[in-house]
Amino acid sequence: MTGAVERERILTVRNLKTYFRTPEGVVRAVDDVSFHLDRGEVLALVGESGCGKSVTAHSILGLVKAPPAKVDGEIVFGDRNLVGLPEKEYRHIRGKQISMIFQEPMSAFDPLYTVGRQLMEVAKAHMPWGDGEAKERIIDTLKSIHIPEPDKRYDEYPHEMSGGMLQRIMIAMALITSPDIIIADEPTTALDVTIQAQVLNLMQDLQSQYRGSIIFITHDLGTVAEIADRVHVMYAGKIVEKAPVAELFASPIHPYTSGLLTSRVRREYKGQDLPYIEGYVPRAYEFPEGCRFHPRCPKAVAKCSEVQPPEFEPAPGHTVACWLLEEGDDR
Ligand code: SF4
Repeated sequence: MTGAVERERILTVRNLKTYFRTPEGVVRAVDDVSFHLDRGEVLALVGESGCGKSVTAHSILGLVKAPPAKVDGEIVFGDRNLVGLPEKEYRHIRGKQISMIFQEPMSAFDPLYTVGRQLMEVAKAHMPWGDGEAKERIIDTLKSIHIPEPDKRYDEYPHEMSGGMLQRIMIAMALITSPDIIIADEPTTALDVTIQAQVLNLMQDLQSQYRGSIIFITHDLGTVAEIADRVHVMYAGKIVEKAPVAELFASPIHPYTSGLLTSRVRREYKGQDLPYIEGYVPRAYEFPEGCRFHPRCPKAVAKCSEVQPPEFEPAPGHTVACWLLEEGDDR
């Protein structure tokens, strides 16, 4: 998907800060995060749970509510900054121009209504279709992602479907309005391993058929190799490395990214969060000073615990927030 072709910038996130006030203190869940998304590309946000990737997605979708949350910075979609956009206006964007595929398909559907009725509600809320046309388009969408017997599925209730099938229906729901951006938040995590592979294959198909852009959120670097164009690695509310996917796998630079990749290779079973990186992810209200990874970093020096590293760019499109990149550093 990458290449010399000039791409249209569809989303620009600048200095995004999403903070929550809690009894324990201020949680800086997303702390000065900047990135962009081009039309037609798949961007993966990767990191352990609690790193801020889902809060980033929810901030983009206007799902983080104040108080106790506060969102600062810019989320520029088209020519509009979405930060501070009134909910009434957000409703025209969320679900239509920016759709979300959630982690838990079972909880995303109302058990009392058929999936067809729920798909119809999304279609009618955002598109100027009558009932007949809406149903036709829904069935076409189900067919396009290879759901068997779509007419029969349309009239089924969520409990009549497997988790994998329901996840596919949710992907169809996200596609109905032909959104500019789909945000897929750990779309395979709640599924068992064989179904995960099917849903990932489907996401890959989407990559080639669907002309919009995808933000793919995952804790598992293994799932992004085939899907993403670029990868951003998050740690403790910050993006620590950004790179094209092949470059990240071939030449990771940030010690945390290297740790993630090593963990991936050595991991013996799923469901365990990166056991081979020493230490633990700090709690969000007590992120350490300096580089937030320094208590776990095998390469840390004194400066790392005092001053937050800026973003260095060792190669075009490859940035790393780590003092190792400072000029003259020969560690
Ligand atoms: Fe490790 Fe220091 Fe780089 Fe942080 S800045 S990743 S502590 S070497």
